[in-house]
Amino acid sequence: MDNWFSIEQLNKDTFVLSEWRHWEETHCYLLLGKTHALLIDTGLGVGDLRAQVEQLTKLPVFVACTHAHWDHIGGHRQFDRYGVHPAEQNWLQGSFPLSLAFVKQQLMRDFSPPKGFDLREYHIFQGKPNRLLQDGDVIDLGDRQIMALHTPGHSPGHLCFWEPDRGILYSGDLIYEGILYANFPSTDPQAYLCSLEKIAALPLRTILPGHHRLPLAPQSALEIRDGLRALHTKGLLSQGSGLQTFENWSILL
Ligand SMILES: [Zn+2]
Ligand SMILES: [Zn+2]
Repeated sequence: MDNWFSIEQLNKDTFVLSEWRHWEETHCYLLLGKTHALLIDTGLGVGDLRAQVEQLTKLPVFVACTHAHWDHIGGHRQFDRYGVHPAEQNWLQGSFPLSLAFVKQQLMRDFSPPKGFDLREYHIFQGKPNRLLQDGDVIDLGDRQIMALHTPGHSPGHLCFWEPDRGILYSGDLIYEGILYANFPSTDPQAYLCSLEKIAALPLRTILPGHHRLPLAPQSALEIRDGLRALHTKGLLSQGSGLQTFENWSILL
């Protein structure tokens, strides 16, 4: 059995499947409801995610990505039903914004590949989503409701997933510890701050990020918001400002 993913049970019906053997330390979250399961992101696409998910649930699985960057959609090819924000639908259908050469270079950094991995066969996932997720849309798992929140900045169609009953935010690449990226042409530093303002106003109890250490305290959202506010005040919240470093995180602009 491929044990590329490390699986941790976060509570009675939520699991995290993590790719600790790659520098990005990417996380996929599996939420089990009464009638459906939701898989948030599918990682790099180098391990057998579906086999791992099927060991954890027999429920029908819907996949939602926080955004359509290669490291969050890698395992999509193993699933039939997935949703994306309309602003990134074309990224899955011929207009992915980064080259395969760049993606492969990122993939091969600090990487202990699973057995049988062949770089020549690696490609960026392309496909037709069967649901478009807009701001405020609810994914109903039977007894758990998960709301999509449009939080652009890191990417134009970035979504955070919000579980109001538990105060849990699945924050994707909007919030995590380490270097945040707002330097690509498709990023928008000002929108990044607006999204943080929106998220920081929620009654957060826990943040489950797309990369690195988890869980994060609600304070992380406030710290990043305050940092971006300070950069905005100094006129630095725009592309080309370079790496801006704070206590637990940095942002590359
Ligand atoms: Zn990303
Ligand atoms: Zn990411």
